[in-house]
Parts: sequence; C-alpha cells; structure tokens
Amino acid sequence: MDFAFTAADLAFRDELRAWLDTELPRFLSEWTDRGDTGDGVDGFDRTQARRQDWQRRLNNSRWAAINWPKDRHGREATPVQNAIYSEEMARVKAPGVYNANGIWQIGPMILQWGTPEQQERWLPGILSADEHWCQGFSEPDAGSDLANMRTTAIASHDGVSGDHYVVNGQKTWTSSAHLARWGLFLLRTDPTAFARGAKHEGITAFIVDLHTPGIECRPIRDLTGDTMLNDVFFTDAIVPADCRLGREGEGWHVAMSTLGHERVGTAGLSITMAADLRAMVATARSTNPDALRDPVLRDRIGRAFAQIELTRLLNYRALTKIINGEPNWPEVPLAKLQWSRIAQLLAELAIDLLGPEGLIAKGEPGAIDGGQWARNYSWQRYTSIGAGATEIQKNILAKKALRMNQRHDS
Ligand SMILES: Cc1cc2nc3c(=O)[nH]c(=O)nc-3n(C[C@H](O)[C@H](O)[C@H](O)COP(=O)(O)OP(=O)(O)OC[C@H]3O[C@@H](n4cnc5c(N)ncnc54)[C@H](O)[C@@H]3O)c2cc1C
Repeated sequence: MDFAFTAADLAFRDELRAWLDTELPRFLSEWTDRGDTGDGVDGFDRTQARRQDWQRRLNNSRWAAINWPKDRHGREATPVQNAIYSEEMARVKAPGVYNANGIWQIGPMILQWGTPEQQERWLPGILSADEHWCQGFSEPDAGSDLANMRTTAIASHDGVSGDHYVVNGQKTWTSSAHLARWGLFLLRTDPTAFARGAKHEGITAFIVDLHTPGIECRPIRDLTGDTMLNDVFFTDAIVPADCRLGREGEGWHVAMSTLGHERVGTAGLSITMAADLRAMVATARSTNPDALRDPVLRDRIGRAFAQIELTRLLNYRALTKIINGEPNWPEVPLAKLQWSRIAQLLAELAIDLLGPEGLIAKGEPGAIDGGQWARNYSWQRYTSIGAGATEIQKNILAKKALRMNQRHDS
C-alpha cells in the first residue's frame, strides 16, 4: 500500500471536518434537548426521525451523496475521498442517514440506468429524505441464490392502466419496507427462463410505489425485538411500465452494477470498532473491574485490537489497488468476512467483559449504557448472513482466489 493525500483530498477533508465541527454538536444538542439518548437506542421510529433530520442537514451542504454528480447535488468524490468521508464520519461518531440504500445503491442505479424523466422524478426525494426507499431482492427461496427469484411481473395493457405489469409473489427480509414509499424491486418478467436453464435471464428491475393496492408489508420481529424487516406480498399489484428501470431482462445487470462501484465505504469501520472496544473496556473498568484482570479476557482484548488493525490495513490495500486501476480483489469478500467476524467477536467480548448486567435489555432497571451492549449482542448475529452469507464468501474465495477445486461427493 502506497498513497498520499493530494491537495484536493486534503481540502475535501478539511472542509468536511470544519462542517462536522460546527454542525454535529448543534444537531446533537438539539436532539438532546428533545430527550434523545442516541442513534439506535430510542426505538425504531425515533431513530428514523433523527436520521431524516441528519440527512437533510448533510444534503443542505452537499455532504449527503458525495458520489453523485455535481449537478445532482453531489461531489463526484474519488475513492480516496470516499475513504476520508467514511473515516471522518466514524471519527466523530456521526449518526446514520435516513436513505442509506437510496444514496449509496439505488440512486447510483437510477443515475446509470434511468431515463432523464426517471432521474428527475426520483432522485430529489431520495436526497431530501422526503421519501424513504427500500430494496426488495430476497425471496423465501432466493437469498444467497438470488437468481432463484420467482415473483412475477407480467406485461399487460388495458384502457384503465395503460402499459403496465401485473405483479404477484413474495419478497422477504425487506428492510424498512413498512416505512418506504418507494422500493427498487427485482421481478421476473420471463418465467420461462427456469425451463430454459437460464435463471439469471428474464429478471427486470422496477421502482415500485409501496402504496399501490395489492401490496402488503408484514413486519418480521427480529432477535432484538425490533420490526425493521418485512415480508412484502404482491397480489395482482399494478406497476406502470414507466417504472421499469432499464430494459426487460436487464435486471441482473442493474442489480449487480453498483457492486462494481465499491468505494471503500467501509474504511471507517475499523475506527468505529476500535472506539467500541475502548468504550466496552472503559465501562468494564467501572462496572465489572475483575474481568479486566482475567488473563483470557485480556488476551481476547489484545487479539481484537490486532484484528481491527488488520481490517484497517485490508481496506487500505483495497484502496491502493483502486488507485492503481486494479480490481480490488479478493479484498471485497475478505473485508466482508473480516467485518462480520469482528462485529460478532466484539459483541460477545462486551458481554463477557461487562458480566451478567451487560445482558440487561434496554428499558429494564440496571441496563448498562441504555442496554446497547445487550442489543448489539443479538443484533450482530445478522452480519454473518446479511450482505452475503459467510459460507458464500468463503466459497467465492476458495474458488476464485485460491483456485480450489469444487468437491463433488457423488
Ligand atoms: C438484517 C438483514 C437485513 C436484510 N435486508 C434486506 C433487504 O433490505 N433487501 C433484501 O432483498 N434482502 C435483505 N436481506 C436478506 C439477505 O440478503 C439474505 O438474508 C441473504 O442474501 C441470505 O439469503 P437467505 O436468508 O435466503 O439465506 P440462505 O441463502 O438460505 O442461506 C442459509 C444458510 O445456508 C448457507 N448457504 C446457502 N447457500 C450455500 C452454498 N451454496 N454453500 C454453502 N452454504 C450455503 C448460507 O451461508 C447460510 O448460512 C437482509 C438480511 C438481514 C439479515
């Protein structure tokens, strides 16, 4: 790894730092005055309202969608500037944004595949946080094997709805669909693709209005007790043809296109994780000091710091490759594995350091730090399945990076 910041990078960082130094304390004090204790621990609706407010402030100063074109209120940030952005946000523990999916994935898809009319219709609402967005890819029998999706969108035309598609089927695990006005959905316009042995074909991307008759969101209660995830059912729901993103059958490419836009947005993770580790050690010092004399736990703390540093270097290696015009491979699946492993390792370490009180849930008497460690212990289980399951990442590395042969048991 070998890179230095250019004058433009340093100017970008200084402008962002100056903005954060002024705006973040103002934002936090306004929310504290309203009785807010922090992102993620005050219930889902309140967290969303806080994120909406934070995104609007970022957007007012062009700090919400740094990768978008300048004439779309972005900054056309370079990969290095993305890493700076991620690290600076982590350094000040900035809140999350309301439309993370919309800003980092769906917006760029609309910019790449959308018509000028579609861009004008949807991009402003993503940025301004006036409309919430979700992403509907997974189905009950299509998660890791996404191309197995079977929810159909059949082209039709009638005097009432004009050119449209009739949608039937079910999506699942759709984050925040119950809050969303719009969602980017992958639907099967050609159900015969299975019979042809070509299941990656016949898939089309649509932008769907979640308020359409025939669409029902049913929240799923997760391990933490929250209901952020949803099943989404479609029964003869009408989606107008002008909501199709890209051509019929191009959905797989639309969906995969932003994966190629890997922008080292995870560069700040090691800062966040190191801060979490320091915070849990500090809390243990005051609530359960004996734990810090336990040689096994001391060893685990040391190893966790080493793993976090390794993650930081992995991100920098990926960044160096991007700067040199090389594919950042196999750092992408490695980083996903590393992130999910450390997230769970830290969540478990916190509970072992804090003792039984660490498991007291938020809202209960005696909960430590508002119950955030207990919540995190359950929540972090998701990291080894969401955004690409661990076994799938290992399979990819084994096959494509290590060139190991597929084992056939039969
Ligand atoms: C918190 C959270 C938020 C999510 N949000 C969204 C969202 O907004 N929109 C959306 O579309 N989806 C979302 N998902 C779904 C997510 O993308 C899927 O859970 C993920 O792709 C895995 O698919 P699956 O759940 O069907 O598991 P499966 O694919 O059924 O996997 C189950 C287990 O089998 C293993 N496995 C599967 N195939 C293989 C194989 N070939 N070899 C070895 N092992 C294998 C997996 O590693 C895993 O351990 C979310 C998931 C979570 C946990």
